Amino acid sequence: MDLLEYQGKQLFAKHGVPVPDGKPARTVEEAVAAGEEIGYPVVVKAQVLIGGRGKAGGIKLAKDRAEVEQHAEAILGMDIRGFTVFELWIEQASDIAEEYYAAILLDRSAKLPMAMLSRMGGMDVEAIAEKDPNAIVRVHIDPLIGFQDFHGRRLAFEAGIAEDVIRPVGALLAKLYETWIAEDASLVEVNPLLITGSREVVALDAKVTIDGNALYRHPETAELRQPGGEDEQEQMAAERGLTYVKLDGNIGILGNGAGLVMSTLDVVAQAGGEPANFLDAGGGSKAEAIVDAVEVILSNPKVTAVLFNIFGGITRCDEVANGLVTAFGQIDVKVPFVVRLDGTNDEQGRTILAEAALDGVHVEKTMLGAAAKVVELAG
Ligand code: GDP
Ligand code: MN
Repeated sequence: MDLLEYQGKQLFAKHGVPVPDGKPARTVEEAVAAGEEIGYPVVVKAQVLIGGRGKAGGIKLAKDRAEVEQHAEAILGMDIRGFTVFELWIEQASDIAEEYYAAILLDRSAKLPMAMLSRMGGMDVEAIAEKDPNAIVRVHIDPLIGFQDFHGRRLAFEAGIAEDVIRPVGALLAKLYETWIAEDASLVEVNPLLITGSREVVALDAKVTIDGNALYRHPETAELRQPGGEDEQEQMAAERGLTYVKLDGNIGILGNGAGLVMSTLDVVAQAGGEPANFLDAGGGSKAEAIVDAVEVILSNPKVTAVLFNIFGGITRCDEVANGLVTAFGQIDVKVPFVVRLDGTNDEQGRTILAEAALDGVHVEKTMLGAAAKVVELAG
């Protein structure tokens, strides 16, 4: 789960990472009130789940009330690379002497947390890597030992940051690591990590990703909603406990087991079709889960046909068939379905479907046959 900048900064503050004072705002009035409270100058910052806001005009300095009003009006509703701005973060302006880059993330190949530091912040990390790959310094952290002073010193020396801020930057990195661990983050990134004119070290931006599988341990974070930031279908699926990923095509897909669903996507693509989603109904899919799944798949207006590919193991094909019959009873289904049932209780499942004689439901025996059929029906 990705957090907005200010949500990330609120987690930073909780763990002692220095951040500028600020307030969120959803309207021009709230933005002005925030400016009055914080004191000028302030920076009006678009809150969207994408970087490069500065370049896109989503970050503006305001030196008085009128300018806050003007910038808030311009930025709210703005489209930043496909993301609409619904929220602002009004922040005390900082005076910038130096911009560094810092991040804590999981290095999957080393199977260890990794801290990164660069003295070339303010631009994309990809741009830094291209300009001067040696300018990004990395150290792995043994999770049993945690982030130690020597990690901070090594990063600071190798990155070549200003000598007078080696200690406070190290201290900030230690707190970032603490945030990363305590909040079950998979990424915390600070770009720029700011050195102010009075040599204070501050996190000026925050990019935080929380491991979705750990959200049950962080109910407050799980409740954070990003209006418009999430896909409608994906949000609906999450509320129903389904594993769903939206794709670009028009063929709705449901299978049981991530591996089977992945191969179903491949086979549909091979047959010349474009899947509209990944949906894993899980092992032991009960009728109720099937109804939920059909609802989510069909809520995507692009879907013109649906493929059910079920391989019964723990999942019983008769349960799936019953679920489909129930779903057709509850939902006004306007697109054709192709159903392939194989494995546990597949005969019973097919009998249930034959007896229900649902409109527009085609039963196919094989995965390839089912893929070809759904591509034909999807048009
Ligand atoms: P991003 O473009 O989405 O990464 O947003 P950032 O929060 O990183 O801001 C982009 C740039 O705006 C920073 O690198 C700064 O140069 C500038 N900026 C942000 N806040 C301030 C501020 O308080 N004062 C000044 N002078 N510049 C700022
Ligand atoms: Mn940034």
